[in-house]
Amino acid sequence: MANEKIPYKIYLEESEMPKFWYNLRADMKQKPAPLLHPETHKPITAEELSEVFCDELIRQELDESTALIEIPEEIRSFYKMYRPSPLVRAYCLEEKLQTPAKIYYKFEGNNTSGSHKLNSAIAQAYYAKKQGLSGVTTETGAGQWGTALSMACSYFGLDCKVYMVKCSYEQKPFRREVMRTYGASVTPSPSMDTEVGKRILAEHPGTTGSLGCAISEAVEVASNTEGYRYVLGSVLNQVMLHQSIIGLETKTALDKYNITPDIIIGCAGGGSNLGGLIAPFMGAKLRGEADYRIIAVEPASCPSFTRGAYAYDYCDTGKVCPLSKMYTLGSGFIPSATHAGGLRYHGMNSTLSELYHQGLMEGLTVSQTEVFAAAEQFARVEGILPAPESSHAIKVAIDEAMKCKETGEEKTIVFGLTGTGYFDMYAYEKFHNGEMGTYSPTDEEIAESLSKLPDIK
Ligand SMILES: *Cc1c(COP(=O)(O)O)cnc(C)c1O
Repeated sequence: MANEKIPYKIYLEESEMPKFWYNLRADMKQKPAPLLHPETHKPITAEELSEVFCDELIRQELDESTALIEIPEEIRSFYKMYRPSPLVRAYCLEEKLQTPAKIYYKFEGNNTSGSHKLNSAIAQAYYAKKQGLSGVTTETGAGQWGTALSMACSYFGLDCKVYMVKCSYEQKPFRREVMRTYGASVTPSPSMDTEVGKRILAEHPGTTGSLGCAISEAVEVASNTEGYRYVLGSVLNQVMLHQSIIGLETKTALDKYNITPDIIIGCAGGGSNLGGLIAPFMGAKLRGEADYRIIAVEPASCPSFTRGAYAYDYCDTGKVCPLSKMYTLGSGFIPSATHAGGLRYHGMNSTLSELYHQGLMEGLTVSQTEVFAAAEQFARVEGILPAPESSHAIKVAIDEAMKCKETGEEKTIVFGLTGTGYFDMYAYEKFHNGEMGTYSPTDEEIAESLSKLPDIK
């Protein structure tokens, strides 16, 4: 098939969809560091985690050795409503850029939540239901995760309480209404409903909130409410496991046409979409079967990989979640209120952090205005209005394609287009009116935040 013209969209048959998720940790010689208990600083046990998290999800979180974990039939049936997602050859963008590079993107925006988050939401809701729970709590930044979880919970008949970062709650009223359409309750965070919310409001009056704060509130409510557990939309290894469906489908689609990527690019918030996209490729790299350049793209306003420290830190501002060894800006770091809400997280998934630490992947930061310029360029030729988060990957994909134009190299670039931006028109408006700022924290601000990292021996 190598010489056959590659279609604009490479679709898979239902029968070609993955039946297993791939657990990248199984192929790592040096595993990510274990989660620690926030008070004792000892490796946290399944039993301790079970106060907050669902049992089966804990098993997945702690499993470092099973490479392939079967996707239950019920979850596969749900996946079939909106998957397999297309792998698109960006012929129109290539033409516009006049680049010899071959650009592909895996589009995860073809569902109502508008992003990849539904891939893990449906799995987490399934395991919560199977455990006989009545509901779950969670946080949401930009709103995509809350929407995805609301959809998944209504499908399985579970209650869903969402703590939404205040600046997004105010900027995105329609997101809130989508969640309520699916039966979720939505509270702006920090709120006065929880002890941790009250404490954060006292310390930072007028704060626009952060994912870290919202997580603490959702955890507090889950541990105080009978029959509830807390679920998280990124960062954890279980989430990255569920997102491996993105990479597995991508690999199957590329293999159909004997395409080998040179560069794989994804935006990195908590790391789950990027981790999922690269999983089978990184696996091959770890086993010495292939080599790829892998790039994580972060906002300049929240640069965990590129300017953070690799250290144990709390996953949340309220310090109630386990400690994770990761690239972090400090759990007290509250990034500026940028328009890529899904990337405003102080830390990074522990598996990706370890891989980055081992030099197996790169990190790049981009500024908000250059991201929106790339988003607009992409929208005008590829017909998809991208999410600001996804546009971080678009920006770097375009930069790499332009380098190929200079050198004449025909590199194959694959990037993750994680979602659509219909709820981000306020941000696009700011950009069009020339009112969008660019913001990077100063070295002093980052050092100040890192000085408060917990002291773990
Ligand atoms: C949440 C979100 C991200 C960030 O994903 P992570 O897996 O946390 O890195 C990226 N793009 C979109 C559209 C999102 O909703």
